[in-house]
Amino acid sequence: MRQFQTLGEIVDNGFCIGCGLCKAIAPNAAIEMREAAHGHLRPAPTRLLEKDEEKAILGSCPGINVTGPFSADTKPGFDAIWGECRRIARGYAQDKALRFAASSGGIMTAINIHLLKTGRVNFILQAIPDPENPYGSLPAVCRTEEELLAANGSRYASAATLSSILDVLDLGEPFAVSLKPCDVAGVKNLQRKDARARDLIRFTQAMFCGTVPSISSLEGFYERRNLNYHKDRPTAFRWRGMGCPGPTVATMPDGSALEGTYNELWDENPWTTQFRCKLCPDAIGLQADIAVGDDWAGAVPVGEDEGWNALVAHTEIGLEVLNSCEAAAEIALYDADIEHLNNVQPHHVKMRTEMQSRLNACADEGLPVPKFEALDLAACSDRLTPNERKRARQGTAARLQRGQGDSDTMTDYGSFVG
Ligand SMILES: Cc1cc2nc3c(=O)[nH]c(=O)nc-3n(C[C@H](O)[C@H](O)[C@H](O)COP(=O)(O)OP(=O)(O)OC[C@H]3O[C@@H](n4cnc5c(N)ncnc54)[C@H](O)[C@@H]3O)c2cc1C
Ligand code: SF4
Ligand code: SF4
Repeated sequence: MRQFQTLGEIVDNGFCIGCGLCKAIAPNAAIEMREAAHGHLRPAPTRLLEKDEEKAILGSCPGINVTGPFSADTKPGFDAIWGECRRIARGYAQDKALRFAASSGGIMTAINIHLLKTGRVNFILQAIPDPENPYGSLPAVCRTEEELLAANGSRYASAATLSSILDVLDLGEPFAVSLKPCDVAGVKNLQRKDARARDLIRFTQAMFCGTVPSISSLEGFYERRNLNYHKDRPTAFRWRGMGCPGPTVATMPDGSALEGTYNELWDENPWTTQFRCKLCPDAIGLQADIAVGDDWAGAVPVGEDEGWNALVAHTEIGLEVLNSCEAAAEIALYDADIEHLNNVQPHHVKMRTEMQSRLNACADEGLPVPKFEALDLAACSDRLTPNERKRARQGTAARLQRGQGDSDTMTDYGSFVG
């Protein structure tokens, strides 16, 4: 089996997720995160990498290194799909304005506010809207409730969230991260190698993540209004929020607003995604202290609701923080179970059960093999029939035979993202 040898191989084979960790850990290579085909951020070194730089990247890149929480002595309480679930619940932020403005029920932001208020951490590292790019997000250090409230909502674009993480560690203060599962995988990889990261990163929160799509859904949004995504730039763009899911709104330079629905954005488009999202062994935040997502039956919103989250506390500290938020009446929680998670996140169950077959197809087709470990992929795969496994393997193989490595391809694990 072939191993990844270079940063170029990660990108060219479609395993990059645009997190920017390589830029952080090889600072002298002056890696720039540039917008590549289909709107995804990709690393571009400004000179040839030294051997030790490449080695450090190959050992930490979360595109090809994901270590889950499952181990040989995994407890019987672990669910093969959802990992260790110390508490499963559905709920929402008690602050009505936050609940309305946020992506779903506002729980991610409410937890971040609680972490600051209780002094557990000095700041949260998370993605905020890029003031210069209506579609973009940037990593930022958020120290106040106001900064956290300005960052809420889901922005379906890569954000190079780890590109400045060593500068953030240089601040020498305890902090939390609130990011996508693959970003959290990068944080965990860094913590395995860097004592400072182990000491200072005190809490990790992730959303369930259905993919970072390419710009095709945005192109379709404008085309349906006889406009052009590339020429007709809005001054601001909101995918969702201000309701649940809330309207999609592009604010145009003349002050007018183009409004659509969440279902329009994802269902009326041949939306496409980066290849690595189809090979995501942990898109549900298995490694995070708390993982949070949407709470729609079958994962499809039917009109608007008041905003609910489904969530899992995976770790002891995750449970402690969750219970503390509830006791402080900052979030409302109703206990739920694995069956509920499976019902509201069916696309993630499908992805976890098919992952081993998809990875087998990549190996069959001669791709270098990523290190996806301690993720219980075999047990997930056992839930499928032999025919289902065969179909999943053939689907990925066919895609690769058509030469679709890092090119966007139609999603095959659901017709929507959360
Ligand atoms: C790319 C993406 C895919 C998703 N796919 C699913 C899915 O398949 N199933 C599901 O149930 N939920 C999915 N979600 C999560 C869902 O949209 C909500 O974010 C989640 O339910 C939390 O809601 P909230 O109201 O608590 O979040 P809020 O309180 O609004 O907080 C949102 C948090 O997300 C962060 N964030 C926003 N955009 C990005 C980004 N591009 N990169 C990193 N962090 C970001 C914000 O900084 C903030 O910390 C996805 C979110 C994203 C960004
Ligand atoms: S996934 Fe992150 S660390 Fe890996 S190559 Fe892409 S940007 Fe760099
Ligand atoms: S699906 Fe996985 S790889 Fe893709 S953005 Fe989400 S967490 Fe990252």
